[in-house]
Amino acid sequence: MTVEIVSIGTELLLGQIVDTNAAWLSARLAEVGVEVYRRTTVGDNLTRIVTALREALERADGVIAIGGLGPTDDDLTREAFANIMGEPLVLDAGEAERLKAFFAARGRAITERQLRQAMRPASAQPIPNPNGTAPGLYAEWNGKLMFALPGPPNEFVPMATDAVLPRLAERTGGRVIRSRVVRLCGIGESDAEAQLSDLILSENPTLAPLAKLGEVHFRITARADSPDVAEQMIAQMEHAVRERLGAFIFGVDETTLEQAVVQRLIEAGQSLAVAESCTGGLLGHRITSVPGSSEVFLGGVISYSNSLKEALLGVPRRVLETHGAVSEPTARAMAEGVRERLGSWWGIGITGIAGPSGGTPDKPVGLVYISISDPTATVVKSQVFPGDRATVKYRATQYALWLLYQGVKQGGCDSLLQR
Ligand code: AMP
Ligand code: MG
Repeated sequence: MTVEIVSIGTELLLGQIVDTNAAWLSARLAEVGVEVYRRTTVGDNLTRIVTALREALERADGVIAIGGLGPTDDDLTREAFANIMGEPLVLDAGEAERLKAFFAARGRAITERQLRQAMRPASAQPIPNPNGTAPGLYAEWNGKLMFALPGPPNEFVPMATDAVLPRLAERTGGRVIRSRVVRLCGIGESDAEAQLSDLILSENPTLAPLAKLGEVHFRITARADSPDVAEQMIAQMEHAVRERLGAFIFGVDETTLEQAVVQRLIEAGQSLAVAESCTGGLLGHRITSVPGSSEVFLGGVISYSNSLKEALLGVPRRVLETHGAVSEPTARAMAEGVRERLGSWWGIGITGIAGPSGGTPDKPVGLVYISISDPTATVVKSQVFPGDRATVKYRATQYALWLLYQGVKQGGCDSLLQR
């Protein structure tokens, strides 16, 4: 089974947006064994869209068009499909009703232009869009499969997942596809891959690595005759991954590191306070983005200046003068100070040089000291993080969350000392 992807939109050709949909779709198609030999990008021009789709259909068993399904005059994908299929556009009654209800629910009358989105070539089916107004299109024409999906990624991804991938997977053997993402921290992509190299060769289920900022993800995808069998295959692969890299796994699917940390703290019944310098509140922001974090997060101090490190956290002036604000003893005093003064079980202190200026040969840009403290011990780690200012700040919070995750999981900060 081969398909081609045709991305439609002048903004793509102008470089105003990046074609993340096609990249995402290519990866998913590879997982289910559908081959993509060519991808085309074309502007909002009917003749060129028709030509691109027609050529793709000559070469491949199917085509997936992305974009150009909205209500405006430059949205021409519907017309292009009708043109190729040699069919008139007709109004889909079900979609028309849905659109009218959508606008009525918002107290607005539907315009002619909006209603255009319910048009489809006579023999095509609409693909429901739960997150937007424009439905997609699905047609079987001349023995080929034709799909069209809207461009906004929050609409595109669920529709491709629910309506496109299963139909294509059916033709490559397996009838259902299931996938799960296993999330790791504290290990680099190449190290993780090296330990799973034999599993990565597996064809069904597949195991595909994905490097993220400060973490590594592995997507497991199984094709099978039934959902139960697919889930079982995924569970087996996940078990094999956990056997080798379990110490680095903090969650699956959409679970973020901050969610995993908050969950652990809730289970342990332990509270947290943070003292942030170079991260400027980013750690507190990430933690408070988790619903329910108020159960364990007391608050924090953004102690950017030396005077506030001293006044609010009790970092001794002597320490600041002798070792500097970016130092092991300062980070330690921040973590212990915030724990003591805010009355939390855990305290975190972060101090570093986010850059781009302010580095010295001794203390380069990106150097960050991260301290975590609980009643059993205080630990300080340092690292020189690569990247720009925003990246250094993010990586510092990631490292802090990862240390805390391990400390809570292993029953206390002293467990981190033995490493
Ligand atoms: P359209 O469906 O062509 O009206 O596109 C609507 C919006 O979706 C665009 O303005 C972009 O923000 C986004 N979009 C369109 N095509 C893509 C694509 N291939 N990848 C990522 N985003 C896209
Ligand atoms: Mg467009």
